[in-house]
Amino acid sequence: LFARKPFITGNWKLNPQSKSEAVDLARGIADSITGESPSDVALFVPFPYLETVQGIVGDKLIVGAEMITPEINGAFTGGVSPCMLKSMGIEWALAGHSERRTLNKESDEDINKQCKMLVEEGMNVVLCIGESLDEFEKDLVDAVCEIQLKKGLSEIGADQMSQVTIAYEPVWAIGTGKVATPEIAQSVHKSIRSITDKMYGSSVAESTRILYGGSVSPGSVDGLLEKPDIDGALVGGASLDTTSFGRIINFEV
Ligand code: PEP
Repeated sequence: LFARKPFITGNWKLNPQSKSEAVDLARGIADSITGESPSDVALFVPFPYLETVQGIVGDKLIVGAEMITPEINGAFTGGVSPCMLKSMGIEWALAGHSERRTLNKESDEDINKQCKMLVEEGMNVVLCIGESLDEFEKDLVDAVCEIQLKKGLSEIGADQMSQVTIAYEPVWAIGTGKVATPEIAQSVHKSIRSITDKMYGSSVAESTRILYGGSVSPGSVDGLLEKPDIDGALVGGASLDTTSFGRIINFEV
């Protein structure tokens, strides 16, 4: 049915507000995976909750960090390095989320450094790309995605691409309730796959998972996942609600 194993991921952002709520949420989400899940599932959670959430979900799902500092060690107050995470058994991280691009002024070069360091450490990265509303209205979607993809993945080789997942997240759809239609998302995903093909060749392009993110909900997940180039979802708001995220994990196609 699927060319690639579906991948449903949650991004908790700066939530929930306490460890006890994080415990309840992680338990609820883990409980919604019954039997053999047809998808891989990952939760990207705040640093202080990583170990606790990992202990709760066991190997039912992947637990990852929402960001990293791409340094080995040294004078980087507040930083968390890939090595630190790896030593805790955390092998996944997000890079390039639009909130970090905008609020923390991360450039494509910063994001590339993060991606490179993660893959060099043998870890996995979900690289987030996507256009602003203005760029969408000016018909620049494919061009913006191509630039962000090429810059974000610069110096990452074809042999490292199995450690990379791409998430297409139109900025105008993140946290707004305005989900891209399955048709719009499919057309961008197809273009991202063809850029990946030009960069790395067809076997990498055909095996790389491309997730859609931006206001995914129980009501929209099925239509999105039906599309041939949409391999999963990156879910913000709805990943904080056990019932909603449980339904998204158990999407029906
Ligand atoms: C996200 O945080 O990447 C995201 C897509 O958020 P939301 O689902 O709330 O739009």
